[in-house]
Amino acid sequence: MKFNTKAIHGGQQHEEATGSVMTPIFQTSTYAQSSPGVHKGYEYSRAANPTRTALENAFASIENGTHGFAFSSGLSAIDCVLRLLKPGDEIITGDDLYGGTYRMFTRLFQKYGLKFKFVDVGEVTNVVDEVSDATKLIWLETPTNPLMKIVDVVGVTNAVKNKNTDILVAVDNTFATPYLQRPLDLGVDIVMHSATKYLGGHSDLVMGALMVKDEKLAKELHFIQFAAGAIAGPMDSFLALRGIKTLHLRMQRHCENGMAVAKFLKEHNKVSNVYYPGLESHPNHEIAKNQMDDFGGMVSFRLKDESKKATFKFLESTKLFTLAESLGGVESLVNHPTTMTHASIPEEERLKIGITESLIRLSVGVEDIDDLLDDLSQALKQ
Ligand SMILES: *Cc1c(COP(=O)(O)O)cnc(C)c1O
Repeated sequence: MKFNTKAIHGGQQHEEATGSVMTPIFQTSTYAQSSPGVHKGYEYSRAANPTRTALENAFASIENGTHGFAFSSGLSAIDCVLRLLKPGDEIITGDDLYGGTYRMFTRLFQKYGLKFKFVDVGEVTNVVDEVSDATKLIWLETPTNPLMKIVDVVGVTNAVKNKNTDILVAVDNTFATPYLQRPLDLGVDIVMHSATKYLGGHSDLVMGALMVKDEKLAKELHFIQFAAGAIAGPMDSFLALRGIKTLHLRMQRHCENGMAVAKFLKEHNKVSNVYYPGLESHPNHEIAKNQMDDFGGMVSFRLKDESKKATFKFLESTKLFTLAESLGGVESLVNHPTTMTHASIPEEERLKIGITESLIRLSVGVEDIDDLLDDLSQALKQ
């Protein structure tokens, strides 16, 4: 099946008892057994629930994996991956990470003896130079949040695996979605999503996803998911499953609108920098063109007037773009990383990589582009 078909049918079966075309919401914690240990494959919903199973099969299908796992949040999906490791193990990761991931790494897992090295993963050598005997995991985001840097996934994966094939490479594919890039096909071991964002797509749930194509790794992750228990519930699983059925349609429009907004901002006399991998001026545009099928709906930028006053004025003036955290829903959002999504990163670290007070991040939705540009235009006049 091609991607657009997989988004709708991947891993899905009509429900057996009634023929129900949509997977029902199996709102149950437990399942009847005819004799101790004799059941229809479901015992207790932390281990498995049919609505979640349908979603997990869809997750695997859209990322070209063999196994998918649904969690109660994106962060609990990352937490599950880190539980593969033990004290003393090293993780190499980017210096421009989602704030909550950075917080989990530094304030939770560091305390249990995991060691993190934060490097500019835009250069393959920066990653390879840090690899040691203790390195067990490379954690990548691309495009990065909020600076929209692109990591050469094949370059990093090949270079790291050349040194040691046992090192796992994981990609947080939240920003791109499998509509734009499929990391498992690029040689990566684990794909992670905050399904809260584009996969769900309607700003109505919080959920995480992992996808893999290796049987042994799948077994280990399933054991952790079951043993630690941060599973997605049946109602949320149903919503995410419904969201995925229009992923390709939404992404197509997100990409069109994202490009139009990026071009509009780039031409605007009040705007200085625009961060969008689809612009030829983007430093990683060539890698982005090779690695991605299109460039998505996330656009960051700065005003020429970098004062807090001008930045806040803009943030308070948009009408269609709602000032809110999160991204990837059908509606357009505007976000101020410094005070909102990236507040958990210490100021010194933030400034080092360019997340200053003047940075503005847009999640461009699927509304009519004329209305979106009108809104930005009026807000820039304020
Ligand atoms: C939102 C987000 C997360 C965290 O996911 P939650 O669903 O909020 O727990 C992780 N990575 C990226 C890139 C995100 O945008």
